Amino acid sequence: MEINHSVRIGIVGAACAGLTAAEELRDLGYQHITLIDAKNRAGGKTYSIPYAHRTKQTRGIYEGGTVWVLPSPLYKKYKKRYGISASQHIMPPVQVFDLSSGKISSPFLVQSQYSVVSRIKQVVKFFGKLKKYTRYDDPGYINTAYREMSEFSPQWFANNDLGFIREALIPIANAAQFGHIEEDVATAYVIKLLALLNRCDLPKKLLLNMPQLQEGNQELWNRIAANHDVRLGQTITRVTRSQTILVETTSQQWEFDHLIWTAPVEEFLSLADASPEERDIFSQVRTIKRAVITCKVEGLPSNIFYCVRNTSQQPLPASYPLAMYEVDPGSKIYSFYPFMDETTTVEELENSVLDLVKRLGGSQVEFLTKPLIWKWFAHFSPQNLREGIYERLDMLQGCQNTYFANELTAGVSVPYGIEYAADIVQRFFPPQASSIGKMLQKQELSTASNQLARH
Ligand SMILES: Cc1cc2nc3c(=O)[nH]c(=O)nc-3n(C[C@H](O)[C@H](O)[C@H](O)COP(=O)(O)OP(=O)(O)OC[C@H]3O[C@@H](n4cnc5c(N)ncnc54)[C@H](O)[C@@H]3O)c2cc1C
Repeated sequence: MEINHSVRIGIVGAACAGLTAAEELRDLGYQHITLIDAKNRAGGKTYSIPYAHRTKQTRGIYEGGTVWVLPSPLYKKYKKRYGISASQHIMPPVQVFDLSSGKISSPFLVQSQYSVVSRIKQVVKFFGKLKKYTRYDDPGYINTAYREMSEFSPQWFANNDLGFIREALIPIANAAQFGHIEEDVATAYVIKLLALLNRCDLPKKLLLNMPQLQEGNQELWNRIAANHDVRLGQTITRVTRSQTILVETTSQQWEFDHLIWTAPVEEFLSLADASPEERDIFSQVRTIKRAVITCKVEGLPSNIFYCVRNTSQQPLPASYPLAMYEVDPGSKIYSFYPFMDETTTVEELENSVLDLVKRLGGSQVEFLTKPLIWKWFAHFSPQNLREGIYERLDMLQGCQNTYFANELTAGVSVPYGIEYAADIVQRFFPPQASSIGKMLQKQELSTASNQLARH
């Protein structure tokens, strides 16, 4: 194996994917790793924001990005490594609010034509099916099973006799990821999202009362960033690849041997000397926008997490919040989650929040800030998927010593992002001399202790 002590690795993006790549590379003995981020903070879409109305009972934090901390062995490893407290902030169970009937119920108890027995059978069948997509060692969309799921999801649920599962879980999937476009996305994306549920134990799967980090979800990434060479607030102006890779900003330039790109691929296209294949693949990526609106509201029930039912039979406007919850029990601070289409305005977003609050009996809405708007859900068309675009994307990995690890390649969510980034490191970066020494030492120690135990 070739050992090179001075491999220089640049990582663009200092959020969960980039920081995981850095952490895993360092574990393998790489020492010259630089992370570059455009923002003045680490964490990207994991963004914990303090609010002023804090009381002794509340944490005084709301999440502007990542809401739920979903299970991942890697996440667990980092939480332990960086001293994140074991006690967690548990969110209320999810309930579905039907605007037309005014009814609020647990997802699996929604009004439906299906009998109790049929519901139970479908739940068992569905979670059984999901097992195939729950493997931690199978990140991204390379598994051919995803290529085979290019049809639209309503069709897939009907073909699989899972009509009740669609009724129960699609309002949650739409609130979490697809908004108003669920009917236009390939089943692969819907199943990949719902497969995250299979990582939870049965009560959590059914109740969806998920945790947040006590310190705020961003704190883990802040602590990891503090242990690496992270350059924040850097506007990259150009990326040029030849023998080595040059990354230029308005004031600096770096030279790397490898580049891991964890920012959106559209950014790559606009800044880098993209190859025709990179250009062809990345120009086909679709995205939407979503917003987070946080307000102080009087008169709403405390400790709630509602998903607002949005179906093709009763569609809501794109700007209507599809999820809402109180950020801390008793805080009276609520976050609302609408999506946006090309025409949605901030005024429409705020009016939709006011409408939902009114329907729920609340009043005196005080917006804490302007809506936080995120570019969201990088994905391909069903046709692209059928034609094997993810296989083509995977073939790009390592070309010109460049690697892509982001929501497009990994799928949306922190677990998927970090597991994909770790996989890229494992596939393309051999352990360095210093870490081989440590690994051998560990192995020798365990052999010696096994021998002692035997005697
Ligand atoms: C509102 C919301 C709710 C969510 N809820 C959950 C949830 O409950 N559970 C869950 O697991 N996930 C959730 N997610 C998704 C999760 O946060 C993301 O999938 C994950 O954080 C993606 O991490 P990433 O590192 O791939 O990308 P990002 O977090 O998007 O990071 C990309 C980084 O690249 C930087 N960057 C971009 N362009 C450039 C450039 N030109 N130059 C340099 N740097 C650049 C950005 O500043 C950013 O730091 C949520 C996200 C949002 C927005």
